[in-house]
Amino acid sequence: MSDSTVKYTMQERDMPRYWYNVQADLPVPLAPALHPGTGKPLTPPDLAPLFPMALIMQEVSTERYIEIPDEVRDVYKLWRPTTLFRARRLEKALGTPAKIFYKYEGVSPAGSHKPNTAVAQAYYNKKEGIKRMSTETGAGQWGSALAFAGACFGLEVKVYMVRVSYDQKPYRRIMMEAWGAKCVPSPSPDTSVGRQMLAEDPKCPGSLGLAISEAVEDAMSREDTHYSLGSVLNHVLLHQTVIGLEAKKMMEEIGEYPDIIVGCVGGGSNSAGMFLPFLKDKLDGSKPNLRVVNVEPYSCPTLTKGPFAYDYGDSAKLAPIVKMYTLGHRYMPPPIHAGGLRYHGMSPIISHLLKLGYVEARAVHQLETFEAGILFARTEGILSAPETMHAIRAAIDEALVCKKTGEAKTILFNHSGHGHVDMNAYDAYLSGKLQNYEYPSEKVKEALADLPRVS
Ligand SMILES: *Cc1c(COP(=O)(O)O)cnc(C)c1O
Repeated sequence: MSDSTVKYTMQERDMPRYWYNVQADLPVPLAPALHPGTGKPLTPPDLAPLFPMALIMQEVSTERYIEIPDEVRDVYKLWRPTTLFRARRLEKALGTPAKIFYKYEGVSPAGSHKPNTAVAQAYYNKKEGIKRMSTETGAGQWGSALAFAGACFGLEVKVYMVRVSYDQKPYRRIMMEAWGAKCVPSPSPDTSVGRQMLAEDPKCPGSLGLAISEAVEDAMSREDTHYSLGSVLNHVLLHQTVIGLEAKKMMEEIGEYPDIIVGCVGGGSNSAGMFLPFLKDKLDGSKPNLRVVNVEPYSCPTLTKGPFAYDYGDSAKLAPIVKMYTLGHRYMPPPIHAGGLRYHGMSPIISHLLKLGYVEARAVHQLETFEAGILFARTEGILSAPETMHAIRAAIDEALVCKKTGEAKTILFNHSGHGHVDMNAYDAYLSGKLQNYEYPSEKVKEALADLPRVS
């Protein structure tokens, strides 16, 4: 009888006990992060007003494995281990000889991979006596993940949500409130940056950069409060490796190993979380042919069009200066529905690996991502987040290459989340109103003229 298994699972007790830290295996170390005020290399005390020491040390650690605390594993158990699927119905619809696997992170309470790090961050803050966390959110995915994590450990959470999203997307705000967090539109009257902005323009629609400034000011001005970031940073990618570690173990058990790993990238955390534990085998030479494809939107093509340069993490120049692919901290991408992929920069780890030639990058248009997302919904059933559709698009394209060449490659992609709160985006596509945005090269040129000068 031929094997027709669709779902691969794992016992709770076999869930990973350690996160994988790629900094132990990099052939060339990462460039140091710099202080946004002085331009000098950052030291742990510089970050202490914002983050707990445990996370600051993880940020620079070169230990290969870092233990997942039992308290964090206990919360992970609410939805982890997540299922590995073989997309047999999609394979059949495509008529491809390729095997397509995906790991589904949409089963977390917030509906994406983001709670993997939110829970860990809330735990370390609680352990260091912090009572309250502040953060920013664009479309609301990160804010809702941190709100859930705050509820798990009895921490107050204050979310500054970009005004336009706050008005247009009420459901994520309601999720945050259900978990007990406070969510205000940014600019808000609660901070001096916000008040200043409101005085200039009472109808200001806000931006991610401004919301970051508010959340950072909030954390800096209170002893009991720390700031939290949902992507980009090394410790965030570290926490997300739980995805790839589970996937690797599950594939090992069925005698499979991916030829190609695909993930969508905003700040890079879900893609890296999946591929890093596998990339370890490429770094040590045992899997030299493993391919890793990071997929980004055409309208925000950080990896495919940006320079590899030192830049600020946020438009307000409050976040550290890091070496990364960037379109400039002042770049405001067009309003694509994949709000989680509208970031001007990219995680230093993915940037570094691309520069060294260990991973690839590809940009795709909004319309083709929805075309792929709808085919996925009609074959595999899941209504995916617009961000995730970028990974689905590239996985399908790789499978179609196999159809041409007749090669039965094994493709693995990370399914970063469901799209149940993105029905307006589906509506726009299904009613023919969705459009593509070209790459605004003039705007990028302007933004890139304002990179920090570092020696
Ligand atoms: C936030 C988000 C992303 C992008 O963030 P990364 O840090 O690049 O992973 C992708 N997919 C979903 C569903 C998200 O919520």
